[in-house]
Amino acid sequence: MLEIQTLRKSFDGQIVLNNISFSVQKGEVVVLVGPSGCGKSTLLRCVNGLERIDSGAIALEGRVLTCDKTKWPLIRQKIGMVFQSYDLFPHMNVMENILLGPMKAQKRSRKETEADAERLLTRVGLLDKKSAFPRQLSGGQKQRVAIARALIMKPAIMLFDEVTAALDPEMVREVLDVMLELAEEGMTMLIVTHEMQFAKAAADRIIFIDKGEIVESGAPEDFFTNPRTDRAKRFLNMFSFENRKKKGLGVK
Ligand code: ADP
Ligand code: MG
Repeated sequence: MLEIQTLRKSFDGQIVLNNISFSVQKGEVVVLVGPSGCGKSTLLRCVNGLERIDSGAIALEGRVLTCDKTKWPLIRQKIGMVFQSYDLFPHMNVMENILLGPMKAQKRSRKETEADAERLLTRVGLLDKKSAFPRQLSGGQKQRVAIARALIMKPAIMLFDEVTAALDPEMVREVLDVMLELAEEGMTMLIVTHEMQFAKAAADRIIFIDKGEIVESGAPEDFFTNPRTDRAKRFLNMFSFENRKKKGLGVK
């Protein structure tokens, strides 16, 4: 579905992604993990054309995107993206937010799209909020609307960039549950998250990035129980209070 080959990206001469190669098969869930600043968001932004890459190639469904002829608005319809900050239009209600993309970009009829939107809102548990405005929703609800809004475009792949990072703890679960359901239904997904339990449960494959490079890539059971590199071990240790205790560092 998605193939990335020897991608390299720099900002102002500073290399932030180097020699990145991996692919995502149809129906596969790949989770990217790594310390803050390692290049995860930049990588997702390269995939949907928000950043230009220096060299290498990205292909979606066998079509190379990283050439000048790429029509990004068309390609982006195939790539659903959900960010950390829910960027819903504040002056539009939930239904209008969801209908905008398919009616404008895909010229689909309101009637057909509305039926689709209602089905998706039911799926994310928010049909009763279809007339509500974003300010009347909780953070978790807004993120679920954002997911529905991406799904209505019928994307070939969904990209998620730390979609629960800004949420209160009690709302994290409702968003992750929707993502887990999508995974079970066979949606192809590339996910950046710091929710390690979720990563373990949802991922077919974990890719660990550090300082702009892929350091490890493998099945979640292997990565979480048997990280091969010191860099991955150190990263995973940050999530474990038990290890801190053992080392006598205590838990503050
Ligand atoms: P992550 O998402 O893993 O935390 P990012 O992809 O956001 O990391 O950032 C990777 C590196 O690229 C960081 O050092 C960041 O400061 C830098 N960076 C990201 N976007 C820009 C930009 N538009 N201009 C310059 N530097 C950037
Ligand atoms: Mg980021």
